[in-house]
Amino acid sequence: MIESTAIGRIVIPREIPPGFALFYTTRDFPGFLSEEAARGLTSLIANRFGIDASLSTCRQVHGAAVRGVRTPRPHTWNECDSCDALYSGERNAALGIKVADCLPVTMIDPVHSVIANVHSGWRGAVQRITAETIATVQRETRFDAAASRAWLGPSIRVCCFEVGEEVASQFDERYVDRSYPKPHADLPRFTRDLLLQHGFAEDAIVDSELCTRCDGSIFHSFRRDGSAGGRNLAIVVQ
Ligand SMILES: [Zn+2]
Repeated sequence: MIESTAIGRIVIPREIPPGFALFYTTRDFPGFLSEEAARGLTSLIANRFGIDASLSTCRQVHGAAVRGVRTPRPHTWNECDSCDALYSGERNAALGIKVADCLPVTMIDPVHSVIANVHSGWRGAVQRITAETIATVQRETRFDAAASRAWLGPSIRVCCFEVGEEVASQFDERYVDRSYPKPHADLPRFTRDLLLQHGFAEDAIVDSELCTRCDGSIFHSFRRDGSAGGRNLAIVVQ
């Protein structure tokens, strides 16, 4: 569902449990955070979703480090040190992941009030960051994958994700489509299988099926816009 807001269009996926929020910002919002931009986001979260949240993001490095987040004060923003996945078991936490073709993977356990948000490009995928995040939240919180739901956000899809052989060879062949002149990798399919292997039910995985590079130009895309392009944010809140 696309909605117009004070920061431009946002996309809200389906099947979000009551008391939680999840949305993706679009090309209308540059996605490079400053105190002012972060205030725009926390205001939106308060006005649209009724949650006075503190926003956490992280300096993303295409690794597999996972970090827990506490919620200091509503309507503040902090950026954690290098990591690519955030989780929180606290209320009023908003976790933001920046992407511009990489896949944002969001998890909500509504029973135990745990949220997690993952930045998974191909480098994170081959380091199994989504599995690493599940293992961490299971160890550190009461998170139960069987009670949880996961969302695969807008990302580059197999239609557009042409890769070199050095990247393709790092994936099992079932995630590489060789019907194109060069190999194409399927990040969402790879991640869906990881989620299934780690306790998520098939019908608990909501795939946006949105391709950042070709789907209606609503999102920033690194492959299409180059390095000067902005970032889409995936923000989950509880
Ligand atoms: Zn595409």
